[in-house]
Amino acid sequence: MNDIKAVGFDLFNTLITVSPECVTEAMVRLTDTLRAEGIELEFESFRKAHRSAAVHFFKEAKAEGRETHNRFWISRALSEFGCTVAPDDPLIGRGVDAYFSSFFEYSRLIPGTKEMLKSLKGSYRLGLLSNFTHAPAADILLERLGLPGFFDHVVISGRVGYCKPDRRVFDLFLEGMGVKADEVVFVGDDPDADVKGASNAGLKPVWTTYVTDNNLPHVVSVAAGPQGDPGKEFPRISSWDDLFALLGKRPSAPELP
Ligand SMILES: [Mg+2]
Repeated sequence: MNDIKAVGFDLFNTLITVSPECVTEAMVRLTDTLRAEGIELEFESFRKAHRSAAVHFFKEAKAEGRETHNRFWISRALSEFGCTVAPDDPLIGRGVDAYFSSFFEYSRLIPGTKEMLKSLKGSYRLGLLSNFTHAPAADILLERLGLPGFFDHVVISGRVGYCKPDRRVFDLFLEGMGVKADEVVFVGDDPDADVKGASNAGLKPVWTTYVTDNNLPHVVSVAAGPQGDPGKEFPRISSWDDLFALLGKRPSAPELP
């Protein structure tokens, strides 16, 4: 690929994986937090109500390209148990923080990711564009994984209000990166949000299937669209070596501490 000045990345199932038990643990932490505030909840019933609320709000927000937030799901789920708590109530805020604290422990970098980023950093501007509803948790997670220093610009959907595949979030990403759309390769695993979203915004999408090709246990978001092949016209990679080959770059020997 010629004339490429920047490489953008999705986060979940592209640079990192989250093991499936993370979501159950997140719900345990959320439920325990609400119980500690005096709200009586049966775990399984609340889990179902929370998921149902998430699906509802994701569907509603997706129709307008907007991002939603866990605080709305919790508030709606609680209302099903006769408990009225506003989405912006600090009690729900504590529940949200407890929920996402699970992600800090169950998220893992895909092998070779830091070496890959280090190799590309000398040749390209690097960026991250993640559909992550709770931006403060995204910041902590990235910090814990040691990723922020690799990126020239980071866009978290929950912070800007729009999410992939909406074009507005890609435009914000490009603005922050200081490059034109056709100068950017965008790597992601979601056929709809990442591949078609990036393509519609004029970027050059690359579909990564590393996680599924290697049968890695992983979580697929409630918000994810159909997981089928986005189309043969889009390049597909299954390793970071595939990405280097696609970019026509030989990786420089990385030296990591
Ligand atoms: Mg992803």
